[in-house]
Amino acid sequence: MKYYSTNKQENNVSLEDAVVKGLATDKGLYMPDVIKALPQEFYDRIDTLSFQEIAYRVADAFFGEDVPADTLKQIVYDTLSFDVPLVKVTDNIFSLELFHGPTLAFKDVGGRFMARLLGYFIRKEGKRQVNVLVATSGDTGSAVANGFLGVEGIHVYVLYPKGKVSEIQEKQFTTLGQNITALEVDGTFDDCQALVKSAFMDRELNEHLQLTSANSINVARFLPQAFYYFYAYAQWVKQMKARFGEGEQLAAVLSRGPVVCVPSGNFGNITAGLFGKRMGLPVSRFIAANNRNDIFYQYLRTGIYTPRPSIATIANAMDVGDPSNFARVLDLYGHSHAAIAAEISGATYTDEQIADTMRCVWKEHQYLLDPHGACGYRALSEGLQPGETGIFLETAHPAKFKDTVEGILGESISIPEKLQAFMRGEKQSIPMSKEFAAFKQYLMTV
Ligand SMILES: *Cc1c(COP(=O)(O)O)cnc(C)c1O
Repeated sequence: MKYYSTNKQENNVSLEDAVVKGLATDKGLYMPDVIKALPQEFYDRIDTLSFQEIAYRVADAFFGEDVPADTLKQIVYDTLSFDVPLVKVTDNIFSLELFHGPTLAFKDVGGRFMARLLGYFIRKEGKRQVNVLVATSGDTGSAVANGFLGVEGIHVYVLYPKGKVSEIQEKQFTTLGQNITALEVDGTFDDCQALVKSAFMDRELNEHLQLTSANSINVARFLPQAFYYFYAYAQWVKQMKARFGEGEQLAAVLSRGPVVCVPSGNFGNITAGLFGKRMGLPVSRFIAANNRNDIFYQYLRTGIYTPRPSIATIANAMDVGDPSNFARVLDLYGHSHAAIAAEISGATYTDEQIADTMRCVWKEHQYLLDPHGACGYRALSEGLQPGETGIFLETAHPAKFKDTVEGILGESISIPEKLQAFMRGEKQSIPMSKEFAAFKQYLMTV
């Protein structure tokens, strides 16, 4: 399969080049040349298949031409070594719990898949070491670092702003050792991102080291996120069959399909879902939930895309002022605002509304939401039409935001053993200046 750049100023490239380069030379995002529909036979029996079986069918449609079947199967099965259960919250609202992976956030799926695919390409080509640079404000660094931990031929440098990530988050990428190096930058998240960008632009550095990025612009990180939309649908079908039996009512519910609501920041997660729909997944429509960084919501309303600096909210992984995957959404719908608005609606919430939702759902349904999932829950519950059922993506475990969640609920919440294990590790990081010259010199000598 070939990949083209959304800016269309560059020739199409192979999957391998798209994964190793991350961003196209013309600064566009890579898109697969063809999006293959999956056969009706697959959808008819999807509820009898396991998560790994479903994911492999989807992975085969994306990557089957470029990766041998047994290798791809192993990558998929290895990546998805944890469940993504669909949990009923109310009669018509279900939560897709994406927080059962190693770092308790949905980014584990893409991070783990990308690490394994890149590892395969490196082994196949006998390539020299590839160095992954990742700037993080919290969740991305931990998912990427844990995904790549111990993968031969790859070294990961996580750049994070000193004193600006929570202790739990910091421990998740500073305690690993092996092929993971944490760089504690004396600056902000934007400074970290600027260092990474400058590194990719620096010719001398790129001659010395093979560098790549592991954020959601990379096709190997974003496309695998489609897997769990298919699995969510499979579980939803199972639940609907259990509720309605085999009759006309079931047929009516199934033919309509669920509404899917995604708490969105850089829009990588929802874009993977949109790809799923293109492949025939019977989702009736999507809702993109924003916090106060409502650039996409405003675009839906006005047809005009106006990026602006992000503002800090309690759903901080969605604090994005210029969503990088918006270029992919535009491309997917031929730059038609009408086509986009017909399939995706939007919502935006303040911190107070997010907190209210968390309290209310905890009290009325005994379901613990994290601030990101709370945006999704609220947008879905306000957006459902009579007779519709819906799924929202619960993108991280509430314990990752322990202080915020406890402050809002006025109760203490328990920390899962997986997180406690990270807390017991010893922090190891290298102090780094926010000046590029110092960062470059460090990389030139590693
Ligand atoms: C990254 C993240 C998001 C936003 O996902 P995008 O793909 O950037 O839209 C939402 N919630 C959590 C918890 C995240 O870590």
